[in-house]
Amino acid sequence: MTKIGIIGYGNLGRGVESAVKYAPDMELVAVFTRRDPATVKIQTAGVPVVNVNDAASWKDKIDVMILCGGSATDLPKQTPEFAKLFNVVDSFDTHANIPQHFAAVDAAAKAAGKVSMISVGWDPGLFSLNRVYADSILPDGKTYTFWGKGVSQGHSDAVRRIAGVKNAKQYTIPVDAALEAVRSGSNPELSTRQKHTREVFVVAAEGADKAKIENEIKTMPNYFSDYDTTVHFIDEEEFAKNHSGMAHGGFVIRSGKTGWDKEFTNVIEYSLKLGSNPAFTTSVLVAYARALARMYKEGARGCKTVLDVPPAYLSEKSDEELRKDLL
Ligand code: NAP
Repeated sequence: MTKIGIIGYGNLGRGVESAVKYAPDMELVAVFTRRDPATVKIQTAGVPVVNVNDAASWKDKIDVMILCGGSATDLPKQTPEFAKLFNVVDSFDTHANIPQHFAAVDAAAKAAGKVSMISVGWDPGLFSLNRVYADSILPDGKTYTFWGKGVSQGHSDAVRRIAGVKNAKQYTIPVDAALEAVRSGSNPELSTRQKHTREVFVVAAEGADKAKIENEIKTMPNYFSDYDTTVHFIDEEEFAKNHSGMAHGGFVIRSGKTGWDKEFTNVIEYSLKLGSNPAFTTSVLVAYARALARMYKEGARGCKTVLDVPPAYLSEKSDEELRKDLL
């Protein structure tokens, strides 16, 4: 049995708990939180909720600690800190900062003789793997990543910070015409605006200036100004009924040429349609936690990513079963 700990009990923390429940070779040992443990209720009977400051005393009782904090401020601090005590996995998804996060975690894990894995999930994660496979197999080509239709937590948060907004949900939507152009193998040049649109559902506070809110959303730099954005104002009831889910998904598509005279066009497409972003992301985290435990036993140390993991290590099936049924 691989003994699993969870640090941070939000959407991902709850998702890891569910995924471990269905993993026959894993056991949840404890959940750690920065809040008062008495205020955090978990689902699994008999598993303690512990203050994160007491994590060090669990050092020898946990094979892999899964870090479920937010990428913006939690993981840059927590992953290097806990990599000194445990083998850790996180889902850090600020793509631009991955190299520096990797360096910090690698140094901590190497000094402690532990192994860590960062940026596990679907993007980064499974999409990264598919970008690398496609790029290696079709070196003469172009890779495109589309996200959605799905909820972007970061964009929803940004809208909620606008004065007069009570609640908001933002959907990222790939443009069908762009997807079709890419699938045709013509390798089009596409601007940010041509690839995705954004749709926002807002519950405004009473008496709020809706035109002003709409304008603030559409002109917000980095988040909305480079996109065609549609804003809908709805009431609390409709928001609760139709916009409380966390579905997501997307596509990685690469097309490239092969043949002596590059006469053949090939298209590789990988797509995900996720009923719940956190419930899926944590299924990925748990499979990679299994791999990490095996890699540690074999002597791996320092920081790894999904690109370093042999696929067979993800499965609880034996190598013989994998060769017979899935190869
Ligand atoms: P979240 O629900 O906001 O949870 C983040 C942390 O906030 C928790 O670990 C928890 O820490 C604290 N928290 C949660 N609920 C709270 C509450 N009611 N009161 C006070 N504190 C609370 O975030 P999430 O949805 O789990 O996502 C975490 C990160 O996963 C995101 O930042 C994102 O970057 C990443 N992610 C990555 C991928 C990928 O494909 N790589 C996909 C999805 C998400 P404490 O228990 O210590 O308080």
